[in-house]
Amino acid sequence: MHCETNLRLLDAYVDAELEASELAAVESHLRDCAACREQQLAIRALREAVQATADYHRAPASLRRAVLAQLAPRDAGPVARSARPRWLTQALAAGVVAAAASAITFRLAVPSASSDCVTMPPTRRRGLSADCGS
Ligand SMILES: [Zn+2]
Repeated sequence: MHCETNLRLLDAYVDAELEASELAAVESHLRDCAACREQQLAIRALREAVQATADYHRAPASLRRAVLAQLAPRDAGPVARSARPRWLTQALAAGVVAAAASAITFRLAVPSASSDCVTMPPTRRRGLSADCGS
């Protein structure tokens, strides 16, 4: 396995989401490659830092109901219902709720762009809002 392939799989490896063959390949590569081992440790450290410091906000039940209502087939006859399995609908809803919770967590964990204006050199401000001035 090349480093490029390994690096693409590292997040899934850290999250224990790889299939057995990919897991074996990544672990084999990590035994022989110090650079990828270091990257793996950095991913684990970032993950632990986020878990230790970020607040977790459960999406309200009303949001879940609203998402599920949007995903439900509107004129669902027997043919339309069989077109999308129930588990897929629930998985999509769970994904949307998880994405919303992640966005909220990310928004709370990352400093706002306006505070970046103080420390960010003018050359890096391009593309940011006009709130940064200059
Ligand atoms: Zn490597």
